[in-house]
Amino acid sequence: MKLYSLGAAREVGRSAFFLEGESTSLLFDYGVKVFTKEEKPAYPAPLPRMPDGVFISHAHLDHSGYLPNIFDEGKVRWYATPPTVDIAEILWNDSLKLAKLKGYDFPYKKSSIEKAKNYWIPSIHGQIMRIGEFSIRIIDAGHLAGAMMIRVEENGKSILYTGDFKIEETELHKGAKIPERSHVLIIESTYYNREHPKRTDAEKQLMQEIWETIENGGNVLLPAFAVGRTQEIARVIRKYDDEIPVYIDGMGTSVNKVYLKYPGYIKDFPGFEKTIESVNTVANARERARATKKPSVIIATAGMLEGGPSLGYLKNLLPNSKIIFTGYSVEGTNGWRLLNYGKIKIDEYELDVDLPAEYIDFSAHAGREDLYKMIKGVNPELVVCVHGDEPDKFAKEIEEKEGIKAVAPKIGEVISL
Ligand SMILES: [Zn+2]
Ligand SMILES: [Zn+2]
Repeated sequence: MKLYSLGAAREVGRSAFFLEGESTSLLFDYGVKVFTKEEKPAYPAPLPRMPDGVFISHAHLDHSGYLPNIFDEGKVRWYATPPTVDIAEILWNDSLKLAKLKGYDFPYKKSSIEKAKNYWIPSIHGQIMRIGEFSIRIIDAGHLAGAMMIRVEENGKSILYTGDFKIEETELHKGAKIPERSHVLIIESTYYNREHPKRTDAEKQLMQEIWETIENGGNVLLPAFAVGRTQEIARVIRKYDDEIPVYIDGMGTSVNKVYLKYPGYIKDFPGFEKTIESVNTVANARERARATKKPSVIIATAGMLEGGPSLGYLKNLLPNSKIIFTGYSVEGTNGWRLLNYGKIKIDEYELDVDLPAEYIDFSAHAGREDLYKMIKGVNPELVVCVHGDEPDKFAKEIEEKEGIKAVAPKIGEVISL
């Protein structure tokens, strides 16, 4: 077998891995790189040929964002869970809108999205299927609703592609279970050199900050990613406090509706349902103004303050308010600027923000401990480190610590498995 790394090779973004078997080939993920220095997305390297099947591990654009492009010229069956498809459709349409707004060409149209949907084969966790000589199994990745790992086997050789995963339990997901031994492990490397705080500690810290800020008469603005984070943070707040007014604004409200459609993909669905019933969904300017009239919590997209309603709230917050990021802010984004320099940038203007801002790590990715748990559990002969800023260092460390051969392919590189 051969593995072509077409993206997310020594970088985070545009995940795309083409696996060539004896007579069948598969594509794992087909994403875009959303945040680049050029301020427009970057796409995977060209496909060697049309694969026989595409697996989209989850809806995040760095894994799904380029898929509709295939259907302008070609056609191929693709496999993903129902929540992945519903959420991806929201994100694809949003990407089209953003491209129009910012004035760059986008590699697909609305009609490509419609075509793509015609070739989708619904998949569920635990499912086993066959494509050509490959036998394939879909495994829960614990990263967000519907996220999956893919394990394939051909002539007795097995490969596990993790996509993005998390083993630790959160309020929404039980966490990934480590699959049986595989010969090759293609693993994300996002946080190979960082341990996340225990989730329950992060939750308690968040609640302390929220209670203190509300007590002081302020608003807590939580810029949050629409998919997964918005839902988890709302759930966490309601786990500890039934009373605080919570407002959800932006694309997260559409994703809430998708999450409510799929009870099987949420850990405590009745609890989640109750949470969403108890929060205020903001749909217009009047409701937006109401959200900042009294002490409250506002969960709003975009997660890195790159546009969306979260940015608009900044100027209307009450005195003594606080901004808390629960997700990572990429360098060069407003989230990063605010956390490091107390500033944001709108068009070409830099503006000072006089409110305190901080970051509490609620990552949906495996931290260092989870990554090593996966490697030890799967016990492969070869680890392929992808989806990280320094996967080469991770690979070197795995070889030294575990005595397992490990590589970090560059984009376009082809390795024999
Ligand atoms: Zn992801
Ligand atoms: Zn990712």
